[in-house]
Amino acid sequence: MSDTEKFRTEVRAWLDKNCPEEMRDGDITAENQCWGGRLWEFQSEAQKIWFERALSKGYTVPIWPKEYGGAGLSAEEAKILDEERQAINARKPLNNFGISMLGPALLAYGTDEQKAQHLTGIARGEIRWCQGYSEPGAGSDLAALKTKCEDKGDHWLINGQKIWTSNADISDWIFCLVRTDFDAPKHQGITFILFDMATAGISVKPIVLISGHSPFCETFLDNVKVPKSYGDNNASVVGEINRGWDVAKNLLVHERGMLGTMSPLRGTTGPENLGKFAAEKIGLDATGRLDDPALRQNIVQAELDNWAYNLTVERMTDEANAGNGLGAKSSMLKYAASELTKRGTELRMEIEGTTAAIIGEDGIEYGSLANNWLYNRAYSILGGTTEVQFNIISKRVLGLPSQ
Ligand SMILES: Cc1cc2nc3c(=O)[nH]c(=O)nc-3n(C[C@H](O)[C@H](O)[C@H](O)COP(=O)(O)OP(=O)(O)OC[C@H]3O[C@@H](n4cnc5c(N)ncnc54)[C@H](O)[C@@H]3O)c2cc1C
Repeated sequence: MSDTEKFRTEVRAWLDKNCPEEMRDGDITAENQCWGGRLWEFQSEAQKIWFERALSKGYTVPIWPKEYGGAGLSAEEAKILDEERQAINARKPLNNFGISMLGPALLAYGTDEQKAQHLTGIARGEIRWCQGYSEPGAGSDLAALKTKCEDKGDHWLINGQKIWTSNADISDWIFCLVRTDFDAPKHQGITFILFDMATAGISVKPIVLISGHSPFCETFLDNVKVPKSYGDNNASVVGEINRGWDVAKNLLVHERGMLGTMSPLRGTTGPENLGKFAAEKIGLDATGRLDDPALRQNIVQAELDNWAYNLTVERMTDEANAGNGLGAKSSMLKYAASELTKRGTELRMEIEGTTAAIIGEDGIEYGSLANNWLYNRAYSILGGTTEVQFNIISKRVLGLPSQ
C-alpha cells in the first residue's frame, strides 16, 4: 500500500470514529458553521466534541505547521482529508476569516512572533477576526481608502471609518488597511495592521438589511491607539509600513480562492438533490421524468455546469499545489462559484413556487430559502464584484490589454 493510500485509510477511520453523526449534515450554510472566538457558544454538544477532537489532531487548520496548531499536512494529504470529510458530508470543525484569509497572509508575511501569537489563536478557535478593508468611497477601488494612521512614537493613532465589516460586532480582532502616507501614490501609502476590537475608540453599528438580518457593520475608528507591539517584538503592523498593499493583495487571492472553492449551489445541497426536491414538489410524468420540461432542462444544465466547475477546481488546486498558488485564477473560480450559487437558489425558489417568498411577522426567517436567496445575491459583490473579477481575468489571466 502506498503512503497516500495508507494515509487515506487512516483518515477515513479517524473521521468515522471521531466525527459525530450530527455533524455529518454538510457544510452548506453560514448558520451551521462553528466560527470560534471569545464570544462563541457551541450550538450543540456534538459541535463541541467535533471541534475538540479536530483541534487535538491539528485538523482545524490541517495544512498549517504543527508549531502553530496545525497538523503539518502536505497539500496532497490535506486534499485527501478534505475529500474524505466531504465523502461523509461532515462539516468543517472550524471556519472563519482567520483560517481562510488572515492565516495564509501571515504565513507569507508575518514575523515568527506574529505567527506564534495569531496563528495559534486562530487554530485553537480562540480569536475571531473581521476584515477592515472597505470604506465609504473605497470598495472596488480599495486603494482609495482614507482611514488615517499616524505614527505617535510608542503607538499608532487611527481615525476613519470602515463599512460592510462582516460580523465586526462579534469579532475579537480586525485585520485592517490604513493610510500611513497621504503624499505617496495611492497603492504605496497603505499599511496592513492588526488590532484588538476591544481597543478604546472603536464603535460598531450593525446595518440591518431588507431581509431583517445582516452580518454587516459600520466600524468607526475614533482616536484609536494601537500599540506598536503586542508583547516582545510582536508588531501590530504586518509586512512593511506603506507596503501593506502587497499583504492586502495576497489576502484577497486567498479570499477569492476560498470563495471560489466553496460548495457550488450552496443552500441547495447540490443539483442532484434539486432533482429529487423538484420531483417531490412537481411530480413525475408517465415516463418517470420530472413533469416540467423547462425546469428539467435547467436542473440538468446546472448539474453539468456543477460537474465542470468541480473538475476545474480540482485541476486548478493541483496546479496551485505544484506551483505558486492560485494567483489571478482565483478570480475565475470566484466568478463561477458566485453564478452557480445564485442559480442554485434561483432554481430552488422556482421549484418551491410562491410560498417560498412568504414573509413572517418578524421578517424573513434566518436560514430559510428566501433568506438564502436574498443573501446569495451578495456573492457577485463580496470579495470583489463580478465586473472587477472580469477585469482581473482579462488582464492577468488572458493577458488582454487594459483598453
Ligand atoms: C456579503 C458581503 C460581505 C462583505 N464583507 C466585507 C468585510 O467583511 N470586510 C470588508 O472590508 N468588506 C466587505 N464587503 C464589501 C465588499 O468587499 C465591497 O462591497 C466590494 O468590494 C464592492 O465595493 P462597493 O460595494 O463599494 O461597490 P463599488 O466599488 O462602488 O462598485 C459599484 C459598481 O460599480 C462596478 N465597478 C466599480 N469599479 C469598476 C471597474 N473598474 N470596472 C467595472 N465595473 C466597476 C462594480 O462592479 C459595481 O457593480 C462585503 C460585501 C458583501 C456584499
